[in-house]
Amino acid sequence: MTAQIIDGFAVAASLRKDIATRAAEMKAAHGVVPGLAVILVGEDPASQVYVRNKLLATAECGVKSLEYKLPVTTSEAEVLELVASLNANPEVHGILVQLPLPKQINADKVLGLIDPDKDVDGFHPMNAGRLSVGLPGFVPCTPRGSQILIDAVLPDLAGKHAVVIGRSNIVGKPMAQLLLQKNATVTIAHSKTADLPALCRTADVLVAAVGRPQMVKGSWVKPGAVVIDVGINRIEVDGKGKLVGDVDFASAAEVAGHITPVPRGVGPMTIACLMLNTLDSATRAIKAG
Ligand code: NAD
Repeated sequence: MTAQIIDGFAVAASLRKDIATRAAEMKAAHGVVPGLAVILVGEDPASQVYVRNKLLATAECGVKSLEYKLPVTTSEAEVLELVASLNANPEVHGILVQLPLPKQINADKVLGLIDPDKDVDGFHPMNAGRLSVGLPGFVPCTPRGSQILIDAVLPDLAGKHAVVIGRSNIVGKPMAQLLLQKNATVTIAHSKTADLPALCRTADVLVAAVGRPQMVKGSWVKPGAVVIDVGINRIEVDGKGKLVGDVDFASAAEVAGHITPVPRGVGPMTIACLMLNTLDSATRAIKAG
């Protein structure tokens, strides 16, 4: 293997420590504790794990968590009412609605009601627009965490070509916006892109956010490139479940300069950035008086 591994687990741990220090300073100076409300509707097992991990991070970071676990039968009106009450609660700086929501609830309607200034997931169209025009707002946590990892190994992206595979609203598009802000020349690839391997071979920074296990092979990677693997896919190996990314780590690590592993790469950064967005929100609320 030639690539250096980007240790997202370690970077995230250090970021959480820094957030805890800043949260303690905020409490001492202003009497304000950053507050994150998490709404989980139903019993989806993956969602329960995500919410549990998020709540563990709040404790470590000095963020107060308000947890709302609602039954799967909850109506859309009830969720909207809860979001409205959290919008009005000054102790809440961040509101997160865990997706997916049960069928009877329109996710766009719920996400659209969250106060954009408490939208720590950065999914509200207002925050997507702010990111696009370069105004301060909330950046979705996974791209924000990925950008921190890229900055750590390649701080100057001027003149570099970045290829983002995936055009989702929560990962691919905001990731491309962040890379553009950093002066990279950015290409967004997706399921209809022609000759993806050849395009990827031109990338100094390659971000894979596809949801297809080990799709990006070493032969797609430009020698020395920074490879960020956002994918989280569960596959079976010898009858046992295993988590893999969208990148074929073994072959890509032979060619890349730096590469994130899965797990312990982008995943821990996502949760740390949720804490960072909540702290940022509390900081803005204090400034706004
Ligand atoms: P998505 O399904 O919304 O989007 C996937 C994108 O990949 C689409 O834009 C599609 O055009 C593109 N795509 C699909 N097949 C392709 C192909 N053959 N070639 C090129 N492009 C193709 O997924 P998402 O929400 O953006 O998530 C992507 C991956 O990232 C998933 O594995 C998800 O689990 C993972 N994820 C990880 C984190 C984290 O914290 N690490 C957070 C969010 C998502």
